[in-house]
Amino acid sequence: MSKVQKVWATQILDSRGFPTVEAACQLDSGEVAVASVPGGTSTGTYEALELRDGDNQKFLGKSVYNAVKNVNEVLGPGVWGLDVNDQDKIDKRLIELDGTKNKSKYGGNAILAVSLASTKGGALANKQPLYLWVNTLAKRVGINAEIHIPSPIFNMINGGLHGAGNLDFQEFHVIPATSKTYSDSLRMGVEIYMMLGKDLDRRGAIHSVGDEGGYAPNLFTNADALEVLYEAIKQTPYQMGRDVFLGLDVAASVFYKNGEYTIRDKSAPLNDDALLDYYKYINNQYHLALIEDPFHEDAWDSWKKILEAFQGQLTIVGDDILATNMERVQKAIADKACNGILVKPNQVGTVSETLEVIKTTRDAGWKVIVSHRSGETNDWFIADFAVGVGSDYTKFGAPARGERVVKYNRLLSIESELQQKNI
Ligand code: PEP
Ligand code: MG
Repeated sequence: MSKVQKVWATQILDSRGFPTVEAACQLDSGEVAVASVPGGTSTGTYEALELRDGDNQKFLGKSVYNAVKNVNEVLGPGVWGLDVNDQDKIDKRLIELDGTKNKSKYGGNAILAVSLASTKGGALANKQPLYLWVNTLAKRVGINAEIHIPSPIFNMINGGLHGAGNLDFQEFHVIPATSKTYSDSLRMGVEIYMMLGKDLDRRGAIHSVGDEGGYAPNLFTNADALEVLYEAIKQTPYQMGRDVFLGLDVAASVFYKNGEYTIRDKSAPLNDDALLDYYKYINNQYHLALIEDPFHEDAWDSWKKILEAFQGQLTIVGDDILATNMERVQKAIADKACNGILVKPNQVGTVSETLEVIKTTRDAGWKVIVSHRSGETNDWFIADFAVGVGSDYTKFGAPARGERVVKYNRLLSIESELQQKNI
């Protein structure tokens, strides 16, 4: 048995320059595991509470000194002496200490930092790479997780809250065919990203890059963004619909107001049915592989309609509607509202609860996508996590910028390691 000897936290910065929580977990062997927590921009209403100090004199209200204090004074001491092999017990203790439904007493960011650091501590104690230790934890909750490298979903164009303000849809994805090896998929993603950059340059359309490293161009409509992607792919050796597919994270809650969705593609706001018709039109043009958050986070009836309309054709992925939250996932399964889940550990706040959610969605036959947040650190925890739980896909942003690339590179290292070990 290897015990947690001490846990402490530090306020560090994420890729947006926003403060976030890093926790260190020291074992009785003296070894130390360190992990940090990401943060969202288009955060769903049903996520665990991200505790920020709200003091405008410090980091314009964004500091997390209270969350750090909560780790140092309550959550850390609360798990001292526990067996680091028993992640379930550690997470239950954290949940019990907080005692609220949405982790609002001590903060989901404080709780997750301890949960992530102790999971890394478990890998250290077992002298295993993190992905193998996560695989052990996944199997303990009954996930039939085969070790493989998931297919990457690249976010090539950033709009919505992540972009420069002139596209409503948040993410425009390129998705290599699942038959490709991971390193081939990454190469395809990078080549398409480079070609897209050149193309946008030629059109005089680049503003900058957005929060997740994708381009944030000044185009007229959301459909134009799909068209420029399509045009860029045509100039590469890869064939749309065979080697590579397109996808969208619409993040529709962000442009929904009073029963209507306002997007620049249409002169008047759309109701849910009109927006569904527009998705059908887009899908006819571009044969999408997935649509994430097509309607706002409480539009259950519209989610049911879109799943029925596209059943068997594409994956309807729930992010804000599910918030990696078991109750909402169970409702979505019962209602037939999605057939894919975006898994973000910081939406729920512990590793064990995240694993339970994955198990439930797997049992329902859904696709599983392990995701970063728009505000990331250089921690590659989720790369190992995605491999360990046997996810179908990862979503780590564009293949550019350190905090995204560190995850893609980690998957390359794991791919090599698996080849060496013949796994
Ligand atoms: C998303 O919406 O899928 C996403 C990664 O963005 P954020 O982290 O801002 O919620
Ligand atoms: Mg999303």
